[in-house]
Amino acid sequence: MLTGLQWLDASLIGVLGLLIGSFLNVVVHRLPKMMERQWAAECAELSGQEAAPGEPFNLMVPRSRCPHCGHQIRWFENIPVVSYAALGGKCAGCKAPISLRYPVVELATGALFFWCAWQWGVSATALVWCAFSALLLGMALIDWDTTLLPDNMTLPLMWLGLVAAAMQWTSVPLVVAFWGAIAGYLSLWSIYWVFKLVTGKEGMGYGDFKLFAALGAWFGWPLLIPIILIASVIGAVVGIAMKFTSGLREGGYVPFGPFLAGAGFAAMLLGPHTLRQLVGI
Ligand SMILES: [Zn+2]
Repeated sequence: MLTGLQWLDASLIGVLGLLIGSFLNVVVHRLPKMMERQWAAECAELSGQEAAPGEPFNLMVPRSRCPHCGHQIRWFENIPVVSYAALGGKCAGCKAPISLRYPVVELATGALFFWCAWQWGVSATALVWCAFSALLLGMALIDWDTTLLPDNMTLPLMWLGLVAAAMQWTSVPLVVAFWGAIAGYLSLWSIYWVFKLVTGKEGMGYGDFKLFAALGAWFGWPLLIPIILIASVIGAVVGIAMKFTSGLREGGYVPFGPFLAGAGFAAMLLGPHTLRQLVGI
């Protein structure tokens, strides 16, 4: 049972999670666009063209606007969950519906942060698992939307896992985390090449290897097989559900990253012992 003070701590961290969730919505929306802009600029440079100096576009600039009417979102319309409810899920300018995903992402991040603080108190351990949760959720959404897993999210997640192991913020010994990262990367890399040589198709992307390496760093190599099994089960269930609801995507390509992320959350929430029992290893 939590004491009153522990409830207060967990609630404050939960509120921090709501705010981080609100920021994640911006990251998920803008980071892929920033990457596309950068690629376009690099291509232009390689082909010797003068890169067109565009308007600045990053996570901070420009201010958020309604995609329908251009109404600039004021600070009191940007309070996680509360504003969505107060506005009835509609833009204050043009009454166009705002995606339910925004408050759901905020609530999910808040709940994950609360859970970490409830589990580990206000500690470095809780904070690194909060960071793990935010990065993983953001990547899952970006991969789902765009089939991209940005290097500037997968690689920091992996390094943070190794640092957390070295600092003993996670319960995985550094050497186990280290081999987890290496085995995670190499295993999917090998499967990718075998699959490609046999079928001529690409079943995954390099981002998946890096994300799996990151999960190896956080949970250690013994958890890699349970994680990949659970990711495959989640993927199969979602794939079948999408077939039945005829929600098949353009080109029929479903990214694997969100399922790896789902297995990563299962590993964090259930713990390594339960996860192994679940898959019978
Ligand atoms: Zn609007």
